[in-house]
Amino acid sequence: MAKQEDLFRNVISHAKEYGYIFASSEIYDGLSAVYDYGQNGAELKKNIRDYWWKSMVQLHQNIVGLDASILMHPTTWKASGHVDAFNDPLIDNKDSKKRYRADVLVEDHAEKIYQKAQKEIEKAKKRFGDAFDEEQFVATNDRVKRYLSERKEILERLGRSLTNEDLKDVKALIEELEIADPDTGSKNWTEVRQFNLMFGTKLGASAESASDLYLRPETAQGIFVNFSNVQKTGRMKIPFGIAQTGKAFRNEIVARQFIFRMREFEQMEMQYFVRPGEELKWYEHWKDIRLKWHLSLGLGEENYRFHDHDKLAHYANAAADIEFNYPFGFKELEGIHSRTDFDLKAHEEHSGKKLRFYDPELKENYVPYVIETSIGLDRMFLAVLSAALKEETLEDNSTRTVLKLPAILAPYKAAILPLVKKDGLPELAQDIFEELKWDFNIQYDEKDAIGRRYRRQDAAGTPLCITVDHDSLEDKSVTVRFRDSMEQKRVLITELSEIIAEEVDFKKWLKSE
Ligand code: ATP
Repeated sequence: MAKQEDLFRNVISHAKEYGYIFASSEIYDGLSAVYDYGQNGAELKKNIRDYWWKSMVQLHQNIVGLDASILMHPTTWKASGHVDAFNDPLIDNKDSKKRYRADVLVEDHAEKIYQKAQKEIEKAKKRFGDAFDEEQFVATNDRVKRYLSERKEILERLGRSLTNEDLKDVKALIEELEIADPDTGSKNWTEVRQFNLMFGTKLGASAESASDLYLRPETAQGIFVNFSNVQKTGRMKIPFGIAQTGKAFRNEIVARQFIFRMREFEQMEMQYFVRPGEELKWYEHWKDIRLKWHLSLGLGEENYRFHDHDKLAHYANAAADIEFNYPFGFKELEGIHSRTDFDLKAHEEHSGKKLRFYDPELKENYVPYVIETSIGLDRMFLAVLSAALKEETLEDNSTRTVLKLPAILAPYKAAILPLVKKDGLPELAQDIFEELKWDFNIQYDEKDAIGRRYRRQDAAGTPLCITVDHDSLEDKSVTVRFRDSMEQKRVLITELSEIIAEEVDFKKWLKSE
């Protein structure tokens, strides 16, 4: 565990040192759970957003984009259920005065039990070697069976009590499991209460005439209220999707995991409108596509797992998360939800406007069902950053810090480095920069010895370094150094564009899975 914590600390400090993430308004000591993206972070974030957007919108004839506003008519949130039900169960520790999400305390406890089972499995794997049959072991080993069923019972009971809004039982569960404050070990808890996560604000100049608004807690509702606008003007036929990226705001109770849980964050969501009755087929389809999208980035298949929801949200008839193995364990990265016709129907009722589709094949008018894919851009950023950060020991026993970002996401695709700051090398390097800048985000760096510049680019995540030396003036060639393999290759200046393009080829990346 200590190692995991170290890794997380490294990720956070590396993110700051290399201009990826800063605390918001840091000169005033920051604002809790709000962060700014620095010069490299802004690029990485944009590249993740583009990779998502292209894979969803550009590659699908029947998916279009939208950019709805953050402020919406307040009835939107009444209809969607957020005013009444967008709550998290909150519990305070009376001794430490620390506040927690009651469900997360229970889930973390269940995860610990799961980890115990995993440990037994790992031990047995080592003991039995090749002859090990994991399925059989899990089915027959009493200890593992006990751990897994204990975990299942806990999560099912939690799911039941939350669905029934039985907060007394959530508290009882915490007591029965003897869950203690993770920071202090105290078991002196308050009752569990519901807390609404929406941020309120006012529209209008004077206090009396101002009306109450909310900052949107999800981007999805902007899609639902525009369903008919897009369907009619885009002449969309079911099934079709609307995709959107943008800011969302939640007054999170506990936000202590860097950019994993923020109060202002960005979502990338897609609502896919389908025929009623066909939703579960499409649900499986989108689970599959979304997992493939993640795997295409090469962060390691073992770092992803599906988690089916035990407690379904008020609008869903099936839901799963894609969890990522963060430095603090497997946690939700993306949600895939079968949202039924809940939202469109609710907006019909509250607005009095029809939100239907005339299906020419069925010759029928209906409210479509919806499959949603919803991923947090910041959580994706953290997944990429934490999987990419490596400390490597080299052949000569020296170490290097390298950020092995997928090249397609890297802020800078290449750095151009004149070997020395004289003899016409900077001029040639600048010429190369001027040529490549039209197609790629390139950095020019002439400060410090070449070895140090390589290390700096490794740590910043730049996939290629292009070194201009004295021979370059004669043979019109340069040395290309590859970040991950550290391999060096002499190539013609005229070949550079093609080499970089090959590294960041969208088709190659997305098709790799
Ligand atoms: P959690 O259970 O972790 O609070 P959630 O189930 O409430 O998340 P959704 O409402 O399904 O999350 O939101 C969709 C996605 O938005 C999540 O999968 C996550 O990636 C992202 N997200 C949600 N809340 C936050 C947050 N506070 N900070 C950053 N990203 C978030």
